[in-house]
Amino acid sequence: MVDPTSDLDEDVDESNAPACAICETKLIRDPDHHVVTWIDAGQMQVRHFCSPACREAWDDSERV
Ligand SMILES: [Zn+2]
Repeated sequence: MVDPTSDLDEDVDESNAPACAICETKLIRDPDHHVVTWIDAGQMQVRHFCSPACREAWDDSERV
C-alpha cells in the first residue's frame, strides 16, 4: 500500500508520468508500476511497466 500521506510522486501528472514500455499506459501512482533499471555504457537505462504481464512481455534481449 502507498502511504496516502506521503509526498512521493505528488507532482506526477499526465504530462510527466512515465509510460509503460509495452502498452504505453501512463503510470500515475499505479500500484502495479514496475521499474527496471540497468547500466549500459555508463548510462542509467530505465523501463517502466504497468503490470507484471507487461514486464514479462518485454524481451530482456532489448536490454543491450
Ligand atoms: Zn503495460
